[in-house]
Amino acid sequence: MITLDKFYINGEWVAPAAPKMMPVLTPSTNAQVGTVALGNEVDVDRAVAASKAAFETFSMTTKAERLALLRRLADVTKARLGDLAAAITMEMGAPATMSRESQAQSGLGHLESFIAALEAHDEEETLPNGDIVSYEPIGVCGLITPWNWPVNQIALKVVPALATGSTCVLKPSEHTPLSARIYAELIHEAGYPAGVFNLVFGDGISVGSALSKHPDVAMMSFTGSTRAGSAVSRDAAATIKRVTLELGGKSPNVIFADCDVDAAVAEGVSSCFDNTGQSCNAPTKMLVERSVYARALDVARKTAEATKVDDPMVEGDHIGPLFDRLQYERVQAMIQKGLEEGSTLLAGGLGRPDGLAKHLQTGWFARPTIFSDVTPDMSVWREEIFGPVLIIAPFDTEDEAIAMANDTEYGLDAYLSTGDEARAMRVSRRLRAGGIHINGRASDYGSPFGGFKQSGNGREGGKFGLEDYVEVKVRPPFAQWP
Ligand code: NAD
Repeated sequence: MITLDKFYINGEWVAPAAPKMMPVLTPSTNAQVGTVALGNEVDVDRAVAASKAAFETFSMTTKAERLALLRRLADVTKARLGDLAAAITMEMGAPATMSRESQAQSGLGHLESFIAALEAHDEEETLPNGDIVSYEPIGVCGLITPWNWPVNQIALKVVPALATGSTCVLKPSEHTPLSARIYAELIHEAGYPAGVFNLVFGDGISVGSALSKHPDVAMMSFTGSTRAGSAVSRDAAATIKRVTLELGGKSPNVIFADCDVDAAVAEGVSSCFDNTGQSCNAPTKMLVERSVYARALDVARKTAEATKVDDPMVEGDHIGPLFDRLQYERVQAMIQKGLEEGSTLLAGGLGRPDGLAKHLQTGWFARPTIFSDVTPDMSVWREEIFGPVLIIAPFDTEDEAIAMANDTEYGLDAYLSTGDEARAMRVSRRLRAGGIHINGRASDYGSPFGGFKQSGNGREGGKFGLEDYVEVKVRPPFAQWP
């Protein structure tokens, strides 16, 4: 049993202002594996005060000093990737192989791309009119992260804050504190000065809200649901702080008949189910040109049926459980709606998969599910399900495909498969989404990640990620009084 009863404030592990503990459960069995302390406003005040004091000196460090710290952070992260992966598997149920190769590795991938972006970043530039613009750290940053890609999200926020000379208070998801604790240890080991990074565990209503409202916090960076993102914006409004949001998604996957349809469909199904469908940018709405629709359904069904669901502690390419009871019940309710609203159940369905080992029967495993012939009036078309549930519908023309793809309040990623380069460029231009995947290829670490519409604002990663954390200051060139 792991006990997380301390917060990392001002370079030390300190007791919370008031004791309040919550169990940490592991999704594959629902067994308790630890307890975590939940903080309150007093803990937030202490962390913000430490961060504010540290900003005085950390904001004056040179780029070379901050690069040296980031490189040390990369070294200590490499040494503990295995620990991060094990923690992620335990707390949110990503299978061991995926935790190591994708979840934990993303922390390092983002860090390395931020180092490259900072190396190339000019902290000052002269405008054509001769004035000089400097890019300065924004101040104390409040960082709130979700449970589904815990280390990925922490790195996407903590690293650019520290890279630019800002200081921060991290509130990770209260459900995934194990990897966050390790991340704080990495920062400590890398030798960051006290107060530059602080960690307070807690829920959204108390710690998240106190951070968002805090007058000494200059900026909030939030990743999570649209509901909570809008609460953060409201809480932040009174103090006019900058708010960047990375929210939900319902990403379309448009497959034209002129591509390798079998490959596009199989890959589309697998990416939708990756991380048990709990990725904000998962391609959950597959749109297929009608002339190859029947074939696509066949490939999709076979791919879903071949998707293994198993113990996350075991190595392999299977998917694991959903994250918790609430998530399991939400996904079941959405599958029920899909059945009631008249789409065709192509694979999977309600309940747990057959053949689960006895020790997993209390875990939150769901069946990889596909609904075909889905129409825009159905809930499964509109809502983010956040589980291994794919919907498929046919289209007849390029214009219709684009209209169907854009028929969502979200705009995070969009996926596209076509053998025609001109069409790929034309359709990409018209898809209202922050990132486009083409023929199975996605953008890399260091590229901007973020959404249009209700998927959020701001962009994380690389040079775009750094820009969110700087203020712009302008001055004329120096001259004596005339
Ligand atoms: P969530 O919104 O419930 O929680 C996310 C974080 O916000 C947690 O730390 C939580 O404690 C905190 N929070 C909750 N209510 C809050 C409030 N009123 N004020 C301040 N903080 C609050 O989301 P989740 O269930 O942890 O994550 C799943 C959601 O995150 C999905 O909608 C998914 O699409 C989204 N997500 C988006 C991205 C992206 O980059 N766009 C990445 C990952 C996840």
